[in-house]
Amino acid sequence: MNVEFSTKAEKLQPGSAGALLYVCSDACPCAQHSAHEAAQLLCAALEEGQSFACTQIAHQGGLQAVAVLRVKDEERATLEKAAKEAAAWAQKQENVKIDVSAFDGVEAPRVAEVLALALGEAVYRFERYKKEAKPAKLQQAEFYHPDSNLAAALAVAEAQTYGMNIAKDLGNAAPNECTPEFLADTAKAEAKKLGAKVKIRGKDYIKANMGSFWSVAKGSRQKPYLVELSYFGAADKNEAPTVLVGKGITFDSGGISLKPGLNMDEMKFDMCGAASVIGTFCAAVKLQLPINLIAIVPTCENMPSGVANKPGDVVTSMKGLTIEVLNTDAEGRLILCDALTYAEQFKPKAVIDVATLTGACIVALGHDVSGLMGNNQALVDDLLAASLEVNDKAWQLPLFDTYKEQLKSNFADLPNIGTPGAGTITAAMFLANFTEDYPWAHLDIAGTAWKSGKEKGATGRPVPLLLNYLRNV
Ligand SMILES: [Zn+2]
Ligand SMILES: [Zn+2]
Repeated sequence: MNVEFSTKAEKLQPGSAGALLYVCSDACPCAQHSAHEAAQLLCAALEEGQSFACTQIAHQGGLQAVAVLRVKDEERATLEKAAKEAAAWAQKQENVKIDVSAFDGVEAPRVAEVLALALGEAVYRFERYKKEAKPAKLQQAEFYHPDSNLAAALAVAEAQTYGMNIAKDLGNAAPNECTPEFLADTAKAEAKKLGAKVKIRGKDYIKANMGSFWSVAKGSRQKPYLVELSYFGAADKNEAPTVLVGKGITFDSGGISLKPGLNMDEMKFDMCGAASVIGTFCAAVKLQLPINLIAIVPTCENMPSGVANKPGDVVTSMKGLTIEVLNTDAEGRLILCDALTYAEQFKPKAVIDVATLTGACIVALGHDVSGLMGNNQALVDDLLAASLEVNDKAWQLPLFDTYKEQLKSNFADLPNIGTPGAGTITAAMFLANFTEDYPWAHLDIAGTAWKSGKEKGATGRPVPLLLNYLRNV
């Protein structure tokens, strides 16, 4: 985290050093809350539909950047859009003072939180393979409000940004660096840094106990790992934990059912479920949430080789169900099913798995909305509500019994792919066979975990959704 957030219980003085940002609401006559003449002029000149303006004024023998942000309404999405504009300006300043005193004690923390999150996004860079790094200038952001305590809101923004940055860094790392071992080591180091517990199981355990997971891992020269992070923050340490499970395929070539070459580099992002689970875990621990939380990450590569899974192979899962591998590219569910069985031992309150699972999810929901399914409507509803609050969008798809007809094998208990149609749902239906013992939800983030094209990179989603859910429970 490069920016430091802090809060001051006063109004921003026009004479203060650093860049100044005055945030005002639609209704506010700016002359009232800002004593700064330049800000008043900027605000008065804002045209209909315009929310941000900036200028530079002479100040103590130099130039001072002054900006105003007018927030139209209280919708999170509108607020985020406006904050993004201000953050693009702020990341070019070294030190920004932000006055949110136009808002009342309820609104101000919300506005500060969204602004702080936008600053966190704007200063994020991934340049570790580049000769010349071009970091953002912004080092410090100070928030001003006379009668509201913004510290809690800023702590949430800071923790969420911290978690998202872990997820982005892992996602963006090249697959020759971010191997299963690297993913496991990073998870361990991050959890240890925060005082959480770590257990890592290696190849021997996986080979002996998790036949389905091992069947995917065995085709690669990289060794697989099963990472288990735990944090007991609830007053009752024996209280049933929430368990997060993340798909950690550090590169998905498709295996023998090889993927086409175009954009295959983006298959390094196939561990974004794992990355978001690790990031969310760290954010929750950083906030010292009063919950018991376990994160489980099965991680390996999916590669073609002489010992790789072949179409037609039948493997035995940890649960004992046999699986016919009809397509080796449907490997995510093969590693997740064993991790979901592994989760049973914790007698969890709820299990949420997160995975870049199906291309079909992009067909159904596009790149802004994650697919959400589950066997417990109360859990799904809680996740939907949490998603809405932080504008990290998800939409529920049904798991009707009739879809079971699409998952029949003549040779094993289950095939690893269904008949054509509803590929996101049949993938979840496959997983549902392994989650009968607890409330379970599944997030398909194939469309939302990373961006392609000019903005190629990991998004850090759905850390906002998951962290907000954990804060609510
Ligand atoms: Zn695949
Ligand atoms: Zn995959």
